[in-house]
Amino acid sequence: MLSSVNSSPILPVYSPFPVAFVRGEGCWLHDADGHVYLDCSSGVAVNALGHNHPALLKALHDQAAQVWHTSNWYQSLGQEKLGQILIKNSFADYVFFGNSGAEAIECGIKIVRSFFRSVGQSQRHRIISAKNAFHGRTLAALSACGKGGFEPMLPGFHQVPYGDLNALEAAINNETAAILLEPIQGEGGINMPPLGYFKAVREICNKHNILLFLDEIQTGIGRTGYLFAYEAEGIRPDVLASAKGLGGGFPIGACLTTKEAARGMTTGTHGSTFGGNPLATAVSTAVLDEILQHDFLPHVAATGKFFLQGLHRLVADHPRVFDAARGSGLMLGLVCIPDNRLVAEMLLAEGLLVIPAGGNVIRLLPPLIFNKKEAEEALTRLDRAAIAWEAKKAYA
Ligand code: PLP
Repeated sequence: MLSSVNSSPILPVYSPFPVAFVRGEGCWLHDADGHVYLDCSSGVAVNALGHNHPALLKALHDQAAQVWHTSNWYQSLGQEKLGQILIKNSFADYVFFGNSGAEAIECGIKIVRSFFRSVGQSQRHRIISAKNAFHGRTLAALSACGKGGFEPMLPGFHQVPYGDLNALEAAINNETAAILLEPIQGEGGINMPPLGYFKAVREICNKHNILLFLDEIQTGIGRTGYLFAYEAEGIRPDVLASAKGLGGGFPIGACLTTKEAARGMTTGTHGSTFGGNPLATAVSTAVLDEILQHDFLPHVAATGKFFLQGLHRLVADHPRVFDAARGSGLMLGLVCIPDNRLVAEMLLAEGLLVIPAGGNVIRLLPPLIFNKKEAEEALTRLDRAAIAWEAKKAYA
């Protein structure tokens, strides 16, 4: 039985939709009353392989029967194995494991600042990020996205408009250490950068000898049809934050870095009690084993393209409900004309789960195993909700 909002013991920082799930299977979730929902939220881009995936279940069960936790005072076979996979398939030489996205961002900020200290340029501490960015809820991560509310915030961050190269370069001064960006802004509303933006950002970083730090917490682990979205841009970052899909639903985050960028990170400069826990690394290794199968990422790209085409048709059919569709792979968004929370509630009534974002957008972030039949089903439910909205307006 769910508590009413007034009697809930949970700190009232969330405003959950009035539904709780008791079981999941693939791209589908079931509530206690037997209603079934098509999951186009994936726990906000987390359940990369959907719910109840047999390989993840097996990895978790097998590890749970062996050892749960030992601490980073001892070597970790699970971290070594997962770290090797990440390094082999990315730009990175080193990985640090934490438990969440915000922790991966914190680690990256420390890497950036300690790099410049280690080369005798400690005045270079400032990180340029983008307006409407989201990097997490810790004080440093909030400061990085220019959010306040808990002053004094951490100094040393500066925001420029996302996608504006002139503003970005003009903001660089002799205190600048790095540029921190999401390849596609997720919470900000599936904001896509202009073509060639990241190539130019990489060149700007090279020209000014500063580091490129990418937040791939939402875009990474196959979400855009690449293991990491930077691959599509033909560039390599110096530091990268990953989380969400990395654990497929088990909490884990990772900060990936080149050896050069990490030169300031010596014994004792960072650590975590739970980071890289054996259960988390076992599940995450199973996630990557699936995602790195040769046909997996092309499937994400093809299904995403098919779904986005359908979303464009939906916008054309319902111009009073939807204004635009955009995104890449299975990281898609619809700009709504009615309030996006209301649209999400109407879709919930149709048995379709979506996540609101900035810019009055609803995000469609299905599990990466989503197929064309499920995309068609999602489009049918979106169409039904739009028709219901139009009918309501006609009689209003
Ligand atoms: N960065 C991005 C791009 C995100 O989308 C999120 C979460 O939505 C975060 C950072 C923070 O991740 P976490 O909530 O795991 O701390």
